[in-house]
Amino acid sequence: MSEDFYTNLSPEERKIIVDKGTEAPFTGEYNEFFEAGLFICRACKTPLYESNTKFNAGCGWPSFDDELEGAVVRREDFSAGRVRTEICCSKCDGHLGHVFEGEQITEKNTRHCVNSLSIQFKSYKNLSKVYFGAGCFWSVEKLFKIQKGVYLSQVGYMGGDTENPRYKDICTGDTNHAEVVEVYYDEKVISFTDLLNIFWENHNPTTPNQQGFDIGSQYRSVVFYTSENQKKIAEESILIQESNWNKTIITEVIIAPIFYRAEEYHQNYLNKNNLGICGV
Ligand SMILES: [Zn+2]
Repeated sequence: MSEDFYTNLSPEERKIIVDKGTEAPFTGEYNEFFEAGLFICRACKTPLYESNTKFNAGCGWPSFDDELEGAVVRREDFSAGRVRTEICCSKCDGHLGHVFEGEQITEKNTRHCVNSLSIQFKSYKNLSKVYFGAGCFWSVEKLFKIQKGVYLSQVGYMGGDTENPRYKDICTGDTNHAEVVEVYYDEKVISFTDLLNIFWENHNPTTPNQQGFDIGSQYRSVVFYTSENQKKIAEESILIQESNWNKTIITEVIIAPIFYRAEEYHQNYLNKNNLGICGV
């Protein structure tokens, strides 16, 4: 234990980090939190987890499927009447939580179950964010996830009439939510124009509420922008694209409303299930 790192902890933090406690499930500030950045140790500030390894295990605590190299130490824990693997910060030895293998939730098949009180989030200010709707979000996510300069992509629902929609709600088309992909990208590596070109090349922007056999408002063509610059570039690129199609482009360009992250089984779906394209 490195008491120097613990002097500024609150009593609540101390209970978890020093006394190896566990916060109540579904209460931590990072349980339902999926922004792009780095999670550091709350006590010694050492980087522990990239946010693109975070997923929703449904267990009530922040879950990561990988740690930064060398950031975390594992040790057997015989408390609670069973053998578990405790994880601690490798620098200050502060308690983080436990790690579990073989649950088949993500491709890495590992779940670092971490207390929100053990970590702190630092947002990546250099990243920009945009949302694309271009039909089935499984395929659209795969398209962007593999691009160099895309740090994080995740699928969800946007632009509809209901709060906290689930897949069963949106798949009728009645809620008006679009299936979208949230893309965090580094402008220095991949420009917004590059992303738009990928978007245009991989769907039909002239068919209202339809992509191939997928029909319904959830499959509409839409760009939800987060900056005026993105709006301008997207609108200009529609004019350029019109010459490639003999029909009017009906793609909507709208300021981003609330993004509702989809259920975990939809995230990275095609890769997790070894599917090349959207399987119907
Ligand atoms: Zn630490």
